[in-house]
Amino acid sequence: MNIPQSNLPRVVIIGGGFAGINLAKNLANKNIQVVLIDKHNYHTFQPLLYQVSSSGLEPDSIAYPLRKILKNHKSSFFRLAEVEQIVPETNTIVTTIGEITYDYLVIATGTKTNFFGNKDIESHGMPMKTVPQALNIRSLILQNFEKAAIANTNEEREALLNFVIVGGGPTGVELAGAIAELKNNILPKDYHDLNPDDMKIYLFEGSDRVLSSMSKHASKKAEAFLKDLGVNVNCNTTVTSYDGSKVSTNSEMVMESETLIWAAGVIGDPIQGLNKDVLIDKANRYKVNAYNQVLDYENIFAIGDIALMECKDYPNGHPQVAQPAIQQGKVLGKNLIRLINNKALKPFKYKDKGSMATIGRNKAVVDLKHYKFGGFFAWFVWMFVHLMSLVGFRNRVVILFNWTYNYINFDKAARLIIRPFKK
Ligand SMILES: Cc1cc2nc3c(=O)[nH]c(=O)nc-3n(C[C@H](O)[C@H](O)[C@H](O)COP(=O)(O)OP(=O)(O)OC[C@H]3O[C@@H](n4cnc5c(N)ncnc54)[C@H](O)[C@@H]3O)c2cc1C
Repeated sequence: MNIPQSNLPRVVIIGGGFAGINLAKNLANKNIQVVLIDKHNYHTFQPLLYQVSSSGLEPDSIAYPLRKILKNHKSSFFRLAEVEQIVPETNTIVTTIGEITYDYLVIATGTKTNFFGNKDIESHGMPMKTVPQALNIRSLILQNFEKAAIANTNEEREALLNFVIVGGGPTGVELAGAIAELKNNILPKDYHDLNPDDMKIYLFEGSDRVLSSMSKHASKKAEAFLKDLGVNVNCNTTVTSYDGSKVSTNSEMVMESETLIWAAGVIGDPIQGLNKDVLIDKANRYKVNAYNQVLDYENIFAIGDIALMECKDYPNGHPQVAQPAIQQGKVLGKNLIRLINNKALKPFKYKDKGSMATIGRNKAVVDLKHYKFGGFFAWFVWMFVHLMSLVGFRNRVVILFNWTYNYINFDKAARLIIRPFKK
């Protein structure tokens, strides 16, 4: 892999997501050799993927080159590779570009889309976990509009303009709101040959409310906001099969749709090599102790979405959102320095900063520990928090400019089929 040998202890980090980059930054220039490995050469800001899917943002404004994050860190290295195996007996990992040994290994590989074993849906549904997948959705939506404009029959047009989103968590809710804005603001302007009323957006959620991880107050408000935008919200309904055109549910509801977006859950994607039975829970997460040390291994750690830290306040582990990943990355950085200097480690304690979701322009819901609110102010808070959390000044400026432009013009400017999606 062409990483220089040195006397410095070597920390290999697998994954440049929220957890991995925060760890890498905290280890920079600390007399440690850091090797960051990712299968992409960029960090993805997943919370805004839905805006790429719905033509609100260009993909490059939510991605950031990983090498740029390390550019001033002389003993830090990036390698573009997929890690295929861990060999703990020899402190080695096997990757698509060769092998490398480590003194300390940190697994920060996040999760992948969970289709719950439903092969039909996996084959025909659209996941939204990466930038290329978000671009696929963008292309498919726009291609469907074009096809609907020349459809020969009402049935054909209906199937092209029925958009089904499965999963009423923040991702599904935010995406449904954004697609509804395409219907309300773009279709009437750009597509004179289509009737906006023919476009239908269905959101399916298996539990009894959307945003079930948030307060009932937030769920109620979010559902009302979605209905105002014209989204068909169906709670207590699970999608059971999809063959690329027919959507079946556990209720009476069956419909034809050319688009099914799957936002119903994630699951860990563990790397081969560690003892699977002992270490991995049913969500495929590595069980870790309070220092993010993978159980049974002294020099292997897991952080972020892929880590399961059972503790009093979070008996099923921390929520799989950005903040635990960021905080674990930072705390592990300090702990690794302590470990290398033979000092005692400090346990991780999660600081819950609240949760939020936005539903179209001017509307959002925010749950803080002692205060819950929704509407315009919440939307403002949502925008501020997301802008400040983005990696890179350029991305913040580009996104602020885009949001301002789109807000003033009721527009979504990235309506481009650059790379057509083939089913
Ligand atoms: C659509 C969507 C919307 C979301 N919205 C929000 C939100 O609004 N707020 C919020 O707080 N959270 C949100 N989340 C969740 C949040 O993005 C995750 O909790 C967070 O990204 C977890 O960080 P991580 O570092 O653990 O993993 P990730 O950020 O997923 O990073 C994992 C990295 O590991 C790399 N990788 C994986 N396997 C390998 C391998 N074998 N070899 C090499 N590299 C590998 C990947 O390429 C990736 O770069 C959202 C997630 C999605 C998908």
